[in-house]
Amino acid sequence: MQTARVAKVANESSKVKTIELDTRLVCEPGQFLMVWVPGVGERPMSIANNDPLTISVANVGKVSSELHRLKPGSLLSFRGPLGKGFRVQDGWKCILLVGGGYGVAPLYFLAKMATSNNIETLAVVGARTAKDIVYEDKLYLVTAETFVTTDDGSKGAKGNVMVDVGRLLIDKKRKPAAVFACGPERMMLAVARLCLKHEIPCQLSLERYMKCGLGVCGSCDLGGKSVCRDGPVFDALDALAIKEFGEWKRDASGARNRI
Ligand SMILES: Cc1cc2nc3c(=O)[nH]c(=O)nc-3n(C[C@H](O)[C@H](O)[C@H](O)COP(=O)(O)OP(=O)(O)OC[C@H]3O[C@@H](n4cnc5c(N)ncnc54)[C@H](O)[C@@H]3O)c2cc1C
Repeated sequence: MQTARVAKVANESSKVKTIELDTRLVCEPGQFLMVWVPGVGERPMSIANNDPLTISVANVGKVSSELHRLKPGSLLSFRGPLGKGFRVQDGWKCILLVGGGYGVAPLYFLAKMATSNNIETLAVVGARTAKDIVYEDKLYLVTAETFVTTDDGSKGAKGNVMVDVGRLLIDKKRKPAAVFACGPERMMLAVARLCLKHEIPCQLSLERYMKCGLGVCGSCDLGGKSVCRDGPVFDALDALAIKEFGEWKRDASGARNRI
């Protein structure tokens, strides 16, 4: 367990805050931290940047609401980096990142790394409305192009991310060599199926309820794989072979719920 001081807190949207710590971490995009709020609980959070170490948190419940109360100077304890991150192959010229909600945060870290390795990076960011979009400005700085979609059409193309993903996968001039997705599971299922159809390699960052973060307790089991240790980033073909993917999730008690 390490402890660092909060250096900066910024509002990304009405629900999401970005918390920068006064430390850096050697880690890969797609890996996560187990962030601990004493007396409340520990939750996995994707790494949104390694230097300074940064997370982006949606305020949805017990731990995340406490994280939203942190101020510059507050202390935050965490374990990590944990899990397996995104894998980028030598020789890929162009990649496409597809994000929804706070799932865009780890993709920003990936975009930064890919661009610094001279890989052209495109991004599609989806949200319900214009005020729910996160990381748009940051992505403009580190991608060749970023496209926005909103369900209500208040910004960018109207509809979900698939509007732009479908178009970009058949773009003759810069067809992506691989696609990376993080966000709502139904969105990732659609992206994975379309990539399969077009025979484009795809990786997904999956989310399941986690306790130990080390592959020991079994809380995040997904078809015999530990999402925390074998993932959270999975090859889309492996995810599509798991019956529960896109269908079921377990809650804190272990009960299965439809996604
Ligand atoms: C690998 C991994 C990476 C993650 N990265 C991030 C991240 O970068 N940023 C982030 O904000 N969260 C992230 N999460 C989700 C996070 O770990 C927690 O699940 C989330 O913060 C809720 O915890 P809580 O204690 O606030 O809510 P709880 O008190 O546990 O739950 C409160 C209510 O919120 C619902 N809920 C729980 N999780 C979510 C959710 N993710 N979205 C909507 N409703 C939810 C529950 O069903 C419950 O009804 C990640 C999860 C995983 C597995």
